[in-house]
Amino acid sequence: MTIPFYKPHVFGNEIIHIQEAIHFNKLSGDGPFTKKASIFFEEKYGINRALLTTSCTDALEMAAILLDIKPGDEVIMPSFTFVSTANAFVLRGARVIFADSSENSPNIDPACVESLITKRTKAIVIVHYAGIACDMDQFIDIQNRYGIPLVEDAAQAIDSFYDSKPLGGIGCLGTFSFHETKNVVAGEGGLLCVNNKSLVHRAEVIREKGTNRRAFLRGEVDKYSWCDLGSSFLPSDLTAAFLYGQFENLDAIQEQRKKIWDFYDSRIRTLSLKVKQFEVPFLPDFATHNAHMYYLVCHSLDSRNGLLKKFGDKGINATFHYNSLHSSVYYKAQHDGRPLLQSDRYTDGLIRLPLYHELTEIQLDSICSIIEDYFT
Ligand SMILES: *Cc1c(COP(=O)(O)O)cnc(C)c1O
Repeated sequence: MTIPFYKPHVFGNEIIHIQEAIHFNKLSGDGPFTKKASIFFEEKYGINRALLTTSCTDALEMAAILLDIKPGDEVIMPSFTFVSTANAFVLRGARVIFADSSENSPNIDPACVESLITKRTKAIVIVHYAGIACDMDQFIDIQNRYGIPLVEDAAQAIDSFYDSKPLGGIGCLGTFSFHETKNVVAGEGGLLCVNNKSLVHRAEVIREKGTNRRAFLRGEVDKYSWCDLGSSFLPSDLTAAFLYGQFENLDAIQEQRKKIWDFYDSRIRTLSLKVKQFEVPFLPDFATHNAHMYYLVCHSLDSRNGLLKKFGDKGINATFHYNSLHSSVYYKAQHDGRPLLQSDRYTDGLIRLPLYHELTEIQLDSICSIIEDYFT
């Protein structure tokens, strides 16, 4: 038996929409399917303005331009995250100040963030790891008290909530990914939620190579010109057509993932309480998660690698996750040297289990049995 770590699920209506897009004869950005997909997202989650992008990486780069990040500025973010969270701001010359994760979750620790704020802090970026919400009351409070914009990297967090509020729609800006490893996929794709209304106009300009082409197409100006920094951040309408097909199946995607997540949780949480040799995801009362990921945190690198080996021997592709960015080859020398013990603990101990639409109960049972055999 071989079980991959992930497998994008295609429903069939994606290809129909791609054919329609070809028929419409408008294949570049901001065609009919880009509109349908962004309106779907705005209406479903009550988002002020949702702009499709070619990736979450691009949405983060737009965020850094929109917030006027300049050389010398400081941006606080977790060390336990994907490189794009940091790259987007480093590209604008910012110095990244890495904060530690919490003790009970890979999410960034609010107390650590507050202790790192200086006069130079221009943005705080948080990541909702595994689609499980950060403590947003605390982060909104920090945003308001210090007047520092909050960016939610919600790449993994579509259809996740903090109380009744959708993740990505709470901070000043929110970013999503439709990479093939995420819940909703478009091959490569992303989205920027512009929650702060005063940033919408500039966001549209930045996304269109720094031109006011959108206002021109809407007939609001009589010629279009270069008026700001920008790049080509908009996806082709073929990508949007595929994505819209996935959006139409959002409920089915989520229902199936939750079934799989709950299967894992019912077996593995019980085991973790019994053997006390690893942790399972912590679910705060305020978080309704989207079953993006099921993970374990082993108590040592050896223990984690031993379990990975057991999976490898059986052809099951479970996998570790981020290497802390503060000790990365590229950024180590620029880090201020503070130890980030929790971040390192997740780097060494975390293991993610396969989670995709077609996983069967027999496969799930064999994955759980490997974990049970290993720890007992
Ligand atoms: C996947 C991911 C990204 C990058 O998304 P892309 O769409 O591949 O650019 C950024 N941040 C986090 C937390 C992610 O999980």
